[in-house]
Amino acid sequence: MDARETMYEGKSKRVIRTDDPALVILEFKDDATAFNGQKKASIDDKGRVNNAISVLLTEEVQKAGVPSHFVKRLDERRLLVKKVEIIPVEVVVRNVSAGSFAKRYAIAEGMPLAWPLVEIFYKSDALGDPLASDDVAVLLGWAKRRELAFMRDQALIVNEVLKTFFGHVNVDVIDFKLEFGRIGENLVLADEITPDGMRLWERGTGKKLDKDVFRRDLGDLSETYRNLYERLFNAPLPAVGS
Ligand code: UDP
Repeated sequence: MDARETMYEGKSKRVIRTDDPALVILEFKDDATAFNGQKKASIDDKGRVNNAISVLLTEEVQKAGVPSHFVKRLDERRLLVKKVEIIPVEVVVRNVSAGSFAKRYAIAEGMPLAWPLVEIFYKSDALGDPLASDDVAVLLGWAKRRELAFMRDQALIVNEVLKTFFGHVNVDVIDFKLEFGRIGENLVLADEITPDGMRLWERGTGKKLDKDVFRRDLGDLSETYRNLYERLFNAPLPAVGS
């Protein structure tokens, strides 16, 4: 698969054209951003860890029948994926109160929710990703009603897979964000599944194992991500290029 020019450069990934119009390459960068790009840093090994974790988690959810854009891992930074038309909606699943949810309703972080909550946000950096509803999403043409229903169902399946998977390594899945894309009439899971877009707390201690370490200045994100890699793969992160 010949890589061609960069089509799009995002905050943590680059999208590269290939010689097949139906396929693109996703390249994970070491850049971290928070608060809509106001806080930035380069985090050693973040791209390689996220690439490996995204493959691991995507394969798990694919096994559970959730369709995904993922085709194959090309190398330690790059994945081959199907080109999709991204739906401008972020689908967030929450098991425990945290982040913007806790703030919005003035409740403590760490309160278990009686059942998983699915929220949707409008994907717009200019507006700071505002909370939305299915009615607004349909009205403004971001997605069809059946697509929203599908995304909610699939997000809840992904939640069950992730809770079980992380449970085996003593980690609680607090919340996470998914994005979906269209290929013709079909929707598939797109983007990444990585600790950049999830809250993961160590069971028992509540220690944060995700990007909140960077957002909230709680420690060394590079070390946090390498430790998470070790916990998931039961081996240290390989040296660069190996
Ligand atoms: N999230 C994300 N990208 C965003 C907003 C949220 O990946 O633009 C993830 C975030 O990492 C967390 C979950 O979605 O795991 C819920 O985030 P929340 O709405 O609480 O917002 P935050 O507090 O991160 O601003």
